[in-house]
Amino acid sequence: MIDLHCHSLCSDGSDPPEALPAMAEQMDLKALALTDHDTLDGLDRFIDQQSRVSTRLIPGIELSCEFAGRDLHVLGLFINHRDAVFQERIQSIRLRRQRRNAQIFQKLKSLKIEIHPEDYIEREQVELITRAHIADMLKKTGHAATRAEAFQKYLGDEGIAYVPFEFLSPGEAFKWIREAKGLPVIAHPGRFSWGLFVWEAAMTDLRDQGACGIETYYSDHSDSETAYFLRLCEALNMIPTGGSDYHGKRKPGCGMGAGWGDLNVPDWILNKCEAFLKTYRRK
Ligand SMILES: [Zn+2]
Ligand SMILES: [Zn+2]
Repeated sequence: MIDLHCHSLCSDGSDPPEALPAMAEQMDLKALALTDHDTLDGLDRFIDQQSRVSTRLIPGIELSCEFAGRDLHVLGLFINHRDAVFQERIQSIRLRRQRRNAQIFQKLKSLKIEIHPEDYIEREQVELITRAHIADMLKKTGHAATRAEAFQKYLGDEGIAYVPFEFLSPGEAFKWIREAKGLPVIAHPGRFSWGLFVWEAAMTDLRDQGACGIETYYSDHSDSETAYFLRLCEALNMIPTGGSDYHGKRKPGCGMGAGWGDLNVPDWILNKCEAFLKTYRRK
């Protein structure tokens, strides 16, 4: 069993990156990839544990892109996270996000909603503030009953403190990942657009733009979705990958490796990924 998708507190998970390898070893995982959102911050601390565990540790990232007007996640697996150009590119997304956050807080302030993100960052130990965190702040300060309401009233497309975001395009993400010697993978396609999306033509398009894998085995995919994406991989000559999307305490019940209990990402995927990487790393 392997797990090619998990998060640490460097994005929105709850565990320190250096704690994950020992957990993977205990689960008897053959490989674990750390794929925090839009950041490489945890990867050194994660990879430095390699000498202590037999689980193979794989550097990764999860990039947020815009596709068909919605949020599409792209995993970059086996990346060289020390690549200077890649680091700079990731930093540029972070700056974009920080600028946007500042604009959101400004808008909230003009609505007489004072939020102090510093206190929240300190208390929750988050390193990258997303809208989900701001929704949580609004909830905790009594401005919204739930996170969903915070999005509806303030942060979402129709909210009064909405600030648009200049997202990465999938093609750009694939290029960045490939140039950092990684494998670009479409993350949890079954969850895109609430699972109501017909993928054939779109996936062909994404493959032609540079995607080479589909996250087929995934905690929230039904058996029929898994079977469907496996068939799609075969038809489009793409690699199936899989992971739990473990977030620690931030996604209670979803465990590393096993997901909601019955996830079992097969080991052969690792060989497929490596065979593929060999072909294009040689170029
Ligand atoms: Zn995701
Ligand atoms: Zn994720």
